[in-house]
Amino acid sequence: MDNILIELTRIVQAVALLNDPQEQVKTIVDSISKTLQQDVCSLYRIDQEAKAQLLASKGLIAEDYVSLPPGKGLVGLVVKSKHSVNLADAAAHPHYYNLQHSNEHTFKSFCGVPLVRSGKVIGVLVVQSKRAVKLNMELEAFLVTLASQLAMIVAGIPSTVLESSAQNRVLSGMVGAPGIAVGRIQLSLGARLAEVPDAKCDDADAEISCLYELLKAVQAEIEVEKQLVGKDIPENVARIFDTYSQLLSDKVLVQRIESEIQAGNWLPGALRVAIQHYTQLFNAMTDPYLRARSEDMENLGDKLLAVWSGQKMEQVELHADQESIILVGTQVSVSDIARVPSKLIGAVVCSEGSSLSHAAVLAHALGIPAVMGVREIKELKSGDRLIVDGYSGQLIVHASEAIINEYLQILGEEQRHRKLLDALRDKEAITKDGVRITLLVNTGLLADITPGLNSGAEGIGLYRTEIPFMIRDCFPAEEEQIEFYSEVLNAYKGKPVYMRTLDIGADKQLPYFPIHDEENPALGWRGIRLTLDVIQLLVTQVRAMIRAAGTDNNLHIILPMVTSLDEILTFNEMLTDVCGQLTDEGHQFIRPAVGIMIEVPAVISQIENFSPLIDFISIGTNDLSQFLLAIDRNNARVANRYDNVHPAVLSEINRIVKAADKCRLPVSICGEMGADPIAAVLLIGMGVRQISMSAAMLPEIKNMIRMLKQSSASSLAERALKMGKAQEIRQAVEKELQSIGFLD
Ligand code: PEP
Ligand code: MG
Repeated sequence: MDNILIELTRIVQAVALLNDPQEQVKTIVDSISKTLQQDVCSLYRIDQEAKAQLLASKGLIAEDYVSLPPGKGLVGLVVKSKHSVNLADAAAHPHYYNLQHSNEHTFKSFCGVPLVRSGKVIGVLVVQSKRAVKLNMELEAFLVTLASQLAMIVAGIPSTVLESSAQNRVLSGMVGAPGIAVGRIQLSLGARLAEVPDAKCDDADAEISCLYELLKAVQAEIEVEKQLVGKDIPENVARIFDTYSQLLSDKVLVQRIESEIQAGNWLPGALRVAIQHYTQLFNAMTDPYLRARSEDMENLGDKLLAVWSGQKMEQVELHADQESIILVGTQVSVSDIARVPSKLIGAVVCSEGSSLSHAAVLAHALGIPAVMGVREIKELKSGDRLIVDGYSGQLIVHASEAIINEYLQILGEEQRHRKLLDALRDKEAITKDGVRITLLVNTGLLADITPGLNSGAEGIGLYRTEIPFMIRDCFPAEEEQIEFYSEVLNAYKGKPVYMRTLDIGADKQLPYFPIHDEENPALGWRGIRLTLDVIQLLVTQVRAMIRAAGTDNNLHIILPMVTSLDEILTFNEMLTDVCGQLTDEGHQFIRPAVGIMIEVPAVISQIENFSPLIDFISIGTNDLSQFLLAIDRNNARVANRYDNVHPAVLSEINRIVKAADKCRLPVSICGEMGADPIAAVLLIGMGVRQISMSAAMLPEIKNMIRMLKQSSASSLAERALKMGKAQEIRQAVEKELQSIGFLD
């Protein structure tokens, strides 16, 4: 081989470019056997029971589907030793195992290397030849390097590559919305605007008037869809439809379509160009919420195309004995969901998207499961029965009667459980021994204001103001900000609302205020560091918040990413100045309470110094854990090392709670940690009395609190603080949650 590196890159790239898993594995084995000039190249996948399944082979011919029992043969030895095995005469090795009914006995040499992902052997790559010659060192090193790169690709290959029609086949995706459903598949695979070609348009004026007709027709359709689904969902979720309407009437979008038509493109081509401009813009954003908005643009584009091409909006009729419908599509749109009567819709399944997709948000509001990112949806057929498990993000195709019955039983239990949680809405979150915990919600999306209230939230613990900023195309002016802050504050009148000042930078970028060239954005110009530098933004924002709150006294301001005392001093000076301005202008208002997020570990030792300058602290466990553990919260490669109940995280939170108590500073939690029942037990045990979380998790946590005793939580926390491993801590709390009947 002339240049190992070039060969290696060529193979990895060729495989990565393929979409079909069957082709991927075939390309792997074909190209390796050719490059290394070996008679055989086989790829085994190690399944959950440690069996080695032959995914593909070039040269090895077996009569049957090959699956080696755990630890069996030289492949088993590679798995066990996590090391390559390179032999001139494989048959002479004590671990040798000849595959029956195959041509394996005709090969002499064997070199097997492990494919490792997150410390686990997930596959074995084997080359064999008829000559009794060990693979030379250079080629073995090549194979080892290649295996390390292929591990990532193989990990993404569905386990079903070999069993396309097996019973009870499990397809995996991501959780979009929780719940269980059993129903019949209805594919919603309409025309895709992205696939429309450019074409010449001869009469631009006629095409432009067509555009305006089309916009009117689509607006009318969206309105009908909103009415159809609106009665079953909270008002703020129904606003997803308004978002579509607003996008449609966006002048910049319409101008972009018009100028593309003027440039000679026909209407569908012009729509595609304009919509793609926005989807690319959203797709390039690192913030997952905003990236998910690109799907809204795509859905809107597909809808425009459907109406343009004369597709009629069909509503599904309700029959008395009809089974639930499972809507399956690349991206099921909110319109697709709206057309199915909510009594009939069982679940939503998409091959793209995430829990932030509007399809998932709407599913959540309707109380139905959604599973997103299922790569194999092409294998699903309309009319087939499907089980959707929105808790694990899995689907079961061709389920046996026994499995269906099992799921129907879970479904029944779940409905009973949901009724129980609904009944808790107006009850207090109080432990069995009388300790009252305040449960608040995290929001930012207008869509989750009402679900928060419906879940029984006692206020908003974290309003992420950057989200409304992100979905605009320039900084909103003071009056516009007053509008959206008022909406939130009015919805929660009489309840506390903790509004965070703009927390942009790092993974939250504004399209119109990009921050470039930072080596470590997570440690860079973000949060309060940024807004104090661009202080006019902060002045406008704080003025808008205070004016929106007026004399209601429920506004609390939280400052993100605070690191040093000077930041608070400067903020407080600015606040005094703003209050002076507002008084001079004749506004009626109350100076809000101001607190800080503890996200930067440096603040922990400084709480006493901060105390006289602030009114409360809110622990942002997402960033705090990221910095304490030095684990990037957005990096999937290290995600499995991130645990909220890591002993170091618990120990620092305990320190914060103690220090805050000493200074009589109220302390609350607003990171994801509070929504994890195990972590919540420990937080309560350490003395936390206010927790903010997503609306979806609030009833569950309330239920847990009402079953728990503070005294047990506190002794558990005491024990946990002495433990060295997150896993050990989880087990101890799990045991307690089982004993009180919260966990099975
Ligand atoms: C946090 O860091 O815990 C937090 C709540 O803020 P965000 O997730 O918005 O960074
Ligand atoms: Mg944060």
